[in-house]
Amino acid sequence: MKRSSLALTIVYFTLVLNSGFSQTLKNKIIAHRGAWNTAIPENSIASLNRAIALQCGGTEFDVWMTADSILVINHDPVHKGLRIEASTYKELAAKKLNNGETIPTLEEYILAGKSQNFTRLILEIKTSGISKERTLKLAEKCVQTVKRLKAANLVDYISFDYDACLKVIELERKAAVSFLHWKGDIPPAKLKEDGFAGLDYTLDVYKQHPEYIHQARKLGLKTNVWTINDEKDMKWCLENNIDYITTDKPERLFKLLK
Ligand code: MG
Repeated sequence: MKRSSLALTIVYFTLVLNSGFSQTLKNKIIAHRGAWNTAIPENSIASLNRAIALQCGGTEFDVWMTADSILVINHDPVHKGLRIEASTYKELAAKKLNNGETIPTLEEYILAGKSQNFTRLILEIKTSGISKERTLKLAEKCVQTVKRLKAANLVDYISFDYDACLKVIELERKAAVSFLHWKGDIPPAKLKEDGFAGLDYTLDVYKQHPEYIHQARKLGLKTNVWTINDEKDMKWCLENNIDYITTDKPERLFKLLK
């Protein structure tokens, strides 16, 4: 092999190795807490399956750690009157979801998601109400679980906790991590510098900082917005080229995209 083509080959493989797992979703739609409705509780396996059936580009879900260090999926810190971080998995599992499901573990959720490879799993690491240490332990255990289940090429991460995001980036160089926030005071350039793959801010932030959208694109970061349920707001996001739209109403957004 000529020296120049050898150099090109090395550059190519370096780019491939550094490019990380594909964070690109197959469409703009991220179902918020799964594709739930009156019969299907949010953050249930049924809501995950429905997001997959609808062919959402991604489906978002929230992860907490129980008192006995089991990772479970739920939005609020409290499940049916029990504080998740202060309860054992067994206590939580005894309180069924409204569709009869047991509160999903992260492992169950990922295994269900692995039945396909169209809809990406957007894993939100919740901030512990007990300590920073516990939030970081949760981040670490999320990465370990995803690796153990060989789902790293299917899962992207988001968190309000900047340190939890940095922990994931440290442990899994290829993971696509987006900073989730309502304030949006971290600009795209800083996120890029810290190894993030994107930003996940509210509509108000993007309206206040429309330059973020352009800056992010230039830096190769993905923009995600939450939680957009109103048709007018969906149109604003589409017109302004935000990459991903997190919504409780995925079917409404599918109609607009047709
Ligand atoms: Mg969430």
